[in-house]
Amino acid sequence: MAEGYTPMVVTNVQVVEGKASELNFTLAPLAADTPAAAAAAGAVTSKPPTATTTTTATPASPTENTAAHTGNDGGGAIPENSGSETSAESGSSTSGSAADPASPPAGGGAGAGSGSGTVATEPVEPEDFRHHHYQDMMLFLLKYSAKCPAITHLYSVGKSVEGRELYVMEISDNPGMHEPGEPEFKYIGNMHGNEVVGRELLLNLIEYLCRNYGVDPEVTLLVNSTRIHIMPSMNPDGYEKGREGDVRGYAGRNNSNNYDLNRNFPDQYTTITEPRQPETIAVMNWLRSYPFVLSANLHGGSLVVNYPYDDDPAGRTQYSKSPDDEVFKMVARAYSEENVLMHNGHPCEKLYPSEFFKDGITNGAKWYNVPGGMQDWNYVNTNCFEVTIELGCVKYPHASDLRSYWEQNRRALLRYMHQVHKGVKGMVIDLTDGTGIPNATISVDGINHHVRTYKDGDYWRLLAPGVYNITATAQGYSPMRITVSVQEKEAMEVNFRLPRLGGAGGLSGGEGSDPVTRGAAELADQEFQGFIRRLSIGSGLDQLILDTSATATQGSLSYHNYQGLSEFMRGLNLNFPKIVSLRNLGQSWEYRTIWALEISNNPDVPEPSKPKIRFMAGIHGNAPVGTELLLEFATYLCMNYGKNPAITRLINETRIIIVPSINPDGRQQAREQQCNSTLGKTNARGKDLDTDFFGNASQRVVEAQPETRAVMDLILEKGYTLSVALDGGSVLATYPYDKPVQSVENEETLKYLAKVYADNHPTMPGDTGCPGESTTMNGGFLRAAEKHSHMGSMKDFSMDFGHCPEITVYTSCCLFPPADRLAALWAENRKPLLRMLVEVHKGVRGVVRDKSGKPIVGAMIVLNGGVRVFTSEGGYFHALLAPGSHNIEAVAEGYQQQRQEVIVSAYQAAMSIVIEFDMDNRIFGLPREFVVATAAASMTALIVTACIIWCVCSAKSNRQKDGFHRLRQQHDYDDEIHLTSMGSKKSLLSHEFQDDSESEEDTLYANKM
Ligand SMILES: [Zn+2]
Repeated sequence: MAEGYTPMVVTNVQVVEGKASELNFTLAPLAADTPAAAAAAGAVTSKPPTATTTTTATPASPTENTAAHTGNDGGGAIPENSGSETSAESGSSTSGSAADPASPPAGGGAGAGSGSGTVATEPVEPEDFRHHHYQDMMLFLLKYSAKCPAITHLYSVGKSVEGRELYVMEISDNPGMHEPGEPEFKYIGNMHGNEVVGRELLLNLIEYLCRNYGVDPEVTLLVNSTRIHIMPSMNPDGYEKGREGDVRGYAGRNNSNNYDLNRNFPDQYTTITEPRQPETIAVMNWLRSYPFVLSANLHGGSLVVNYPYDDDPAGRTQYSKSPDDEVFKMVARAYSEENVLMHNGHPCEKLYPSEFFKDGITNGAKWYNVPGGMQDWNYVNTNCFEVTIELGCVKYPHASDLRSYWEQNRRALLRYMHQVHKGVKGMVIDLTDGTGIPNATISVDGINHHVRTYKDGDYWRLLAPGVYNITATAQGYSPMRITVSVQEKEAMEVNFRLPRLGGAGGLSGGEGSDPVTRGAAELADQEFQGFIRRLSIGSGLDQLILDTSATATQGSLSYHNYQGLSEFMRGLNLNFPKIVSLRNLGQSWEYRTIWALEISNNPDVPEPSKPKIRFMAGIHGNAPVGTELLLEFATYLCMNYGKNPAITRLINETRIIIVPSINPDGRQQAREQQCNSTLGKTNARGKDLDTDFFGNASQRVVEAQPETRAVMDLILEKGYTLSVALDGGSVLATYPYDKPVQSVENEETLKYLAKVYADNHPTMPGDTGCPGESTTMNGGFLRAAEKHSHMGSMKDFSMDFGHCPEITVYTSCCLFPPADRLAALWAENRKPLLRMLVEVHKGVRGVVRDKSGKPIVGAMIVLNGGVRVFTSEGGYFHALLAPGSHNIEAVAEGYQQQRQEVIVSAYQAAMSIVIEFDMDNRIFGLPREFVVATAAASMTALIVTACIIWCVCSAKSNRQKDGFHRLRQQHDYDDEIHLTSMGSKKSLLSHEFQDDSESEEDTLYANKM
């Protein structure tokens, strides 16, 4: 089915093992009148949802629940962390499976795994029932990834304290990639090392899915429609300390640093003071990198499904309801109903005789408080819904019992996975160009919990059956609301096509008076917007890399000494004279040339209307990887010019300056395979150049080193929009400043740029640091001073004197790795380097001129009241800004200042704005400082006014607020409606703050780590 087309059914499709069979559908377009078509026509979309809609369409709440949760788990509700040891073997396993009518007869399936093409009536059962220690488990995983290569992808999300890999087996019809529209599911086992049943069940499940794909229709369908991630052991260190036969002990429960991982996550109510553990960090990063929808965390020591919240604001043991209580009960029951013993509700009668869980499920906090638990963190901080499943009263049962655990849980494990397909799913799409909108918010009236769209604009919203009003909102678009009736069955597809907010940008209307040329310019602008957008979202850049793989030079990478480097640069100039020019910036102490390469469609011609980006490397001669990466990057760009349309366009629209070796003298001394040596770090006079950039010539007491001087002159040419410096000795990206400063102006933007690099690097976001590195980081980026605070850095000089943000990228732990590592390092950094070429087109750009059309050169553009850029020749300016809403102000001598609010998108190219000064309002004779002061004063007044408006609004809604950086679950539904109803500008602002998920998360980490 597709929107706007007649659905088509193809029957008798035979699915065989191995590669998916190709099946094409040619759909006839529908006449009109689908709800989506109506929406697209603008009927629903033009108005934001109104405040009057207070009738919350909450689905009929099943009344039995309240009854079920009163007074049932009397007294002793003590789970896995209770005191006295009992050796009583509570007969969870054997008796359960025998009397289990829900699970179809197990066993059978004697090695029928080869069944090619024929659809077997009984699924093939796993055969491997034993305890798997780490090495054994690893071999098991390797074996099944080799056995089912078409549907598996084995990866690790990090390492335990003792260095064991945290393996994940992905099972999907297209392993290794997210398919737009396909939900992602995960199981995590063995978080408590001595609770081993989950670990073995998940291995059984891997075997089961692998052997039944293409054999059993249920498994085949599940794997084709779901991306399943299975982590059999989150605590492999603890596991090795556990012992078989342990019923309710503690040996091996915690990780190797003796912390309970299920008390180690940031908590919404309590501050967790224990240091965050590597296993926890790895899982948090993992959750940030995949769009998980549903998850379960498998434990032992009881027999029940436990759902959020796990704690209560006051730490009491009582029902702590999450906004999605109905959904959680639905998915929890889906599991317990398939496990008869669990469903009985008397989990461990011998151990805790009075304990009873109606339907075998319980709210976490009602059972006992768990601050710092993983399931709540999932729900509160990501799109993922997670429950905790207790699989049996014995934590470490004897191997002989494992088969019966599988039989008891097989149906439940499968049915729980099917729950990922409940509710609604679909896309949020830009109405103008049809592309998906990432990070849009999906909210449901009456449920104070939003989910967000993923990179392609796809989303999933689990919901229990009922009628709901669902609203999609996105920065820069009008929100849209749709009423949906959710059924018991498969998720319903609901797509939102959002119209862009009208006419954003443009202080004063028209570029050129002629409507025809103006139209053409707008069209070209829009076209370019689409181009940048395609490269920014989804798999745009991956596709570009794939398209250019034939012309890639990869594999020929080697180190170049000064002689080789110079020849290489000249070679590029000679072979690509139309797009490459070579410049001599200056000489080192030992008379080596510091080269700069410009790549552009008009090299050497100043084209101030285009953004200019600088790539720098080799400031430390002992870390030459960056030098080689930039040579490769330059070659890659040149080779693909005229061949690949996207690369061609990027070169045509950008001025690219590459300085591969700032410190050629140091480079000459450095030796290959010296990972930690400082030989060659400094220049020939022993000066670390990255401490030599301070002041301008008149402010300096000592003369700058010649290398520094050359680079300072380059930076002072101005007109740069972005600079990326490559260095070594770590794997992360840093943003200004290197010097210790209290606060950084425009920090959000700087942080954003470093984050973009890290996010496009395959390992950077999850990197836990190099050996011997003390800094802890989140997401692979941090402020430079937090890594190594020092004065006189190139980055700081670029900021303060070049008015250009510079990030520094550390590409490998080893400073001078062996040459055969270079190809891999290039593969890692190619995409983020390309992404920077895309990124430089974002932010805000425009031209400043007077009424007569005369461009004003040297006008100051003040961003958010702080950061300044200056207009260059032609009156052009371009500044990068983090996604969001910003104030910009233009100040030019003799004119009245102009201000404007601009909205910057993470995915769109900068909208061109024209700032026109009115000569009639000239301020004759007033000194420039006065104008600046006026500008600052009016800015302050404006901010104060905005704050007052905000506070009044907040107060009106009678709700307690905790500032702009509220966690998104904590704001109230009424506030939401209230803000949304306040007209588009205000509501935009409110979304602004809610949408700023990055900084929210950072705030969260900062507060709670
Ligand atoms: Zn546990």
